[in-house]
Amino acid sequence: MSFTALNLHPNLVRAADSLGYTAPTPIQHRAIPAARDGRDILACAATGSGKTAAFMLPILHRLAARKRGTRALILAPTRELAAQIDEHRAALGRYTDLTGAAVFGGVGMGPQEMAFRRGADIIVATPGRLLDHLGRGYVNFDGIEIVVLDEADRMLDMGFLPDVRRIFATLPKRPRQTLLFSATLPAEIVQLASVLLRDPVRVDVERPPAPAAGVRHGVYSVSRDGKLPLLLDMLRQPDVRNVLAFTRTKHRADRLAGALVRSGVAADRIHGNRSQSQRTKALASFKTGTLRVLVATDIAARGIDVAGLSHVVNFDVPNEPDSYIHRVGRTGRVEAVGDAVTFVSPEEESDFRSIERAVRRPIVRLPVPVSTR
Ligand code: AMP
Repeated sequence: MSFTALNLHPNLVRAADSLGYTAPTPIQHRAIPAARDGRDILACAATGSGKTAAFMLPILHRLAARKRGTRALILAPTRELAAQIDEHRAALGRYTDLTGAAVFGGVGMGPQEMAFRRGADIIVATPGRLLDHLGRGYVNFDGIEIVVLDEADRMLDMGFLPDVRRIFATLPKRPRQTLLFSATLPAEIVQLASVLLRDPVRVDVERPPAPAAGVRHGVYSVSRDGKLPLLLDMLRQPDVRNVLAFTRTKHRADRLAGALVRSGVAADRIHGNRSQSQRTKALASFKTGTLRVLVATDIAARGIDVAGLSHVVNFDVPNEPDSYIHRVGRTGRVEAVGDAVTFVSPEEESDFRSIERAVRRPIVRLPVPVSTR
């Protein structure tokens, strides 16, 4: 099936086409017609499924019909995800005259205030920063028609649900279209959905939790001290084009990035103690290929989307299976195939076994090169 069959505005089909989207992904196929017709949606879909376009295309379609102030609000858990959704909005809306802005913390309030005052059509915001703006009197959400709650389960994990409820309380009452996307559906999200959504269409595209298809998984058993030599050895292989490496802590992220740079590898890191401009710069350099390795902690890396990412390395085993699935979800997107390898030290074996149980398949043990043992 092609995008034309979804009955979207021709300028949107043209934009999808220019981005190389030839056919809708399963979530797009199922969610777009219902959302275009104004239905509420409860969708279970993970990063990498094409979920952003699944809500952005119907929003652009509905708003393109007439212009009048801010009419769509998208809430996302992290700055990086908000920025990325806004990039999708600009790319998919390039042949429309709809405007938008990303609103998140760590950067000045001024330009964001201007976007509210101008009445940007589509606002993508993290909850905390949006509440800061809402307290200042210039935000006019009277015209809001469509609200998206993206990565609702991550909002829950990060403690944002009270903020989300406060934001919804400020929005005009019905008629309003609400779309809720979540990788998993814990009880709290089901409960929230029952309050926010009206007769929603349920869309389940991936049996949660399952790692993105197309990712080849492997594991190395290695001592704690053997991890850095092992990563350096991997980086000597030409097929390891670029690596998103995860550590458990900010401190370990700093140490790993520092050690890589000292070994001559173009590397940087993103985590909660880095400023927004440092994070944005590191991510941009990684996306353009100036950096070969980006070291990240779980929270900082949420929702990051890097086209053509060849390898995810779990330098440390994540402490919960859900983080593993999110980490490896960065590679093997839609049509690419990537590798996800995990470095497991003896003290991490038991955490790793619970991940293998959660992903419901054993992960291949790879031989550790002799030189790094
Ligand atoms: P998301 O799950 O929204 O984070 O999207 C994952 C990636 O898939 C992004 O890089 C999108 O640009 C890409 N993508 C979304 N829809 C399609 C499509 N129909 N065909 C090919 N790639 C897509």
